[in-house]
This record gives sequence, structure tokens and C-alpha cells, in this order.
Amino acid sequence: MSPRFPRVPEAPPLRPSRRAFLECGAAALGATVLTRRAAAAPVPATLQAIPDQSGRVMTVRGLIDPSELGPTLMHEHLFIRFTLPTDQPERWARLGLRVPETPEELALWNQPFTVRDRLKLMGAFYRNQDAYNLDDVATAVAEVQAYQALGGRTIVDVTTTGIGPHPEKIREVVERTGINVVMGTGFYRYAWHPSDMARRSIDDLTAHMVRELTTGFGNTGIRAGIIGEIPAETIEFSPKESDEVRVLRAAARASRLTGAAITVHSDLRRVHRLHTAVDVLEDAGADLSRVVLGHMTHEAAGQPDLLESLVARGVYVQFDILGNPLDVEIPTRPMVDAIERLIMRGHSERILVSQDVCTKMQLLQNGGYGFTFVASILVPWLRRQGVPSPAIDNLLIHNPRRVLTFVAPDRAPQRPG
Ligand SMILES: [Zn+2]
Repeated sequence: MSPRFPRVPEAPPLRPSRRAFLECGAAALGATVLTRRAAAAPVPATLQAIPDQSGRVMTVRGLIDPSELGPTLMHEHLFIRFTLPTDQPERWARLGLRVPETPEELALWNQPFTVRDRLKLMGAFYRNQDAYNLDDVATAVAEVQAYQALGGRTIVDVTTTGIGPHPEKIREVVERTGINVVMGTGFYRYAWHPSDMARRSIDDLTAHMVRELTTGFGNTGIRAGIIGEIPAETIEFSPKESDEVRVLRAAARASRLTGAAITVHSDLRRVHRLHTAVDVLEDAGADLSRVVLGHMTHEAAGQPDLLESLVARGVYVQFDILGNPLDVEIPTRPMVDAIERLIMRGHSERILVSQDVCTKMQLLQNGGYGFTFVASILVPWLRRQGVPSPAIDNLLIHNPRRVLTFVAPDRAPQRPG
């Protein structure tokens, strides 16, 4: 493919849409999912019961050798329900939104998504529920196959409780395409939290993640291979004790207990808080070399010193909203420039890339890039800029492999929650 660069923006700036579209990375659903309790299977009775999966990668098909991963997308959503129930306006308020009320708003909310309406809906975040719902297996198969045709081998689906996850549908895609999928465990953002979240202890939250990593999602037998995406947003307001902070602390403990890595949904708009999220994880005992800071957007990209200071702490910085159809609001070019700059400054071993597909507007079949931006646009561009192949291989293959490969469980006593 010719190394062209991000398309000309398709639509004018769309102010109302910005906030939430960025926060993609996930979907949510109605009350049944939102109030879903932890799966029934018990947590292993002792730490010794947690299997040592070190040196292996857990996929939907089970453990595999890391060499089987190949080119990997680290932050995607094959299936997601990224909407909120209209009978719970308080959840909408957490996003600064209100439920559709007028006849026009309700009509737009309820109409099926069509390609014809793509531009309009990109500028109307959260105004059409179907646009934020990826649930069709055949569609996912086609999108995955387009990625495979470009050499892609593995996708990490970071759809956590509140917006999914959807293990059985993913298994069907895996069976039909041969793609490797690694699933994430955890809890999505505050607006999607289970209604009893405030009453759940850090122990309970840790147990939920450990269970999905070791015995699986519900009774499916399909196990998670990474922790996240785990949000780090309300730390702005309550760095010590918000529910999201407690989930972060639980993630740190689950990571130590199982050897799985953690992938973080960073606050896209408050980049000065990126270190705070790392502080919380570090304080809770996380191994920072097992932490991925996701959602580095143009705002973080514009602060090279900040990015280098994060890398210096040992975490990965992940540019995972590349090729977004809202290019005016989330311009891809600054992120690609930041990737190139970081590589040239010797940090190619700490960079990850992805596209965060989470809406119908992003699908290839609807005129977006689907899962293909990294392979068809980013990589040719970096090559044209003179970035050496080993550095590109780090982003696509070696870094994902290092992150997804379990390390030995830490059987030492965990810090109290
Ligand atoms: Zn996210």
C-alpha cells in the first residue's frame, strides 16, 4: 500500500461529540450487564492454586507459545455495547450527557445505523444506540479477515465488565478466522460500573479479575489473558479512594497474583494525571514493567518530555486511537509524529499501537479503517520516514509479545486493600 497519510478530515469539527467518542474503548449495556455480579465460580482457595502460566500467552483458544502471536493489535473491541440504559439518567450525567428526550432525539436514538448517516452520527456522540453497538459475528469475521489479509495475527479485546465482555461470540470469530484473540478482564469506566460497586471491597474486585484470568468468564471456560482496560479518570477528583482507584489497586494485586499485565484506559483530557495513575499502581504493588498506559492521544503526543518521563518509569505508552474517523477531534498525525520521535530517541521497546475500534463508524465496511490502519497506513509511513524495521517489529510484534506473556505469579503476601 502506498504510504499516504491520514485522510483529509471528513467532517468539520464536531464539538459535542468529542468527549465521549474519544472515550471509546468500550461499550456498555443495560441493567443486566451493569448489575452483573462476579461469576459464580469460586476464587482459588489459596494463592498456590493460581496456575503458573509464565512463559505462555492465554488466548480464547487457551495457552499458546508467545512465538505464535505475530503482529498484534493491543487495544480493540470485537464486540461491545457502548451505550447506557435510558432509564438510568444518572449514568449519563457521569459523562456530562442527558438521555434522549425530544421526539427527534428519540427517533435518532432508536433508528438503525446506516452508512448514509455515518457522518451525521460521528458528530452526534451517543445519539444513536445502534452506532455504539458491535454485536454481529459475520461483521466481526469480515473485519478480522481484512486485518489478516495485511498480515495481522492477534487482536487484544479489552472489553471489560459494563460494556461486555463477549467471550462466546469472540470464540466463534476465532473458530471462523483462525485469529488469536486475547481477552481482558476488569471493570470499565465509572458510568458503567455495577450498581453495587461502592460496596465491593478491593478483595472482591481482585477476586473477580483473578477468576476471569484463571477459571474463565462465567461458565464458558474462556479465560482472560490481560487485565484491562482499566480506567484511570476519576483519580483527578479523588486520587485516594474513588471506585476507579480501587479497581486500579485491585488490578495491581491481580497482576501480581497471576503474572498478567495491566492495560490502562488513561484520561484522555487530563494528561497531567498520567503519572498519578502510575503512582496508584506503583503504590498498590504493581510491577510497572507490566503496565500499559493506553489512549495516548494528540494531547500527550504534543508533550514529548511527559512521554519520556513515563517511559522512564518502565511503563509502555500506547497510541491506540489511530485512524479515528473523527480526525479533526483526535488528529492522528501528532500521534504518529510522537511515535516516530520516541522511536528515534531509542524507546521503540516501550511503544504499542492500535485503533480502538468500538463503533460502527470505525468499521471498514462503513468507510472507516477497521483494524487496518496500523498495517496499511502507519507502518508504510514509518518506513518512508526511515524508521528501521527492527523498531517497527518492536511495536507490532516484540512488545505485544513481552506484555502478553505471563510472568511467574508473586506468591508473597499482597498489600492490604
Ligand atoms: Zn478506553
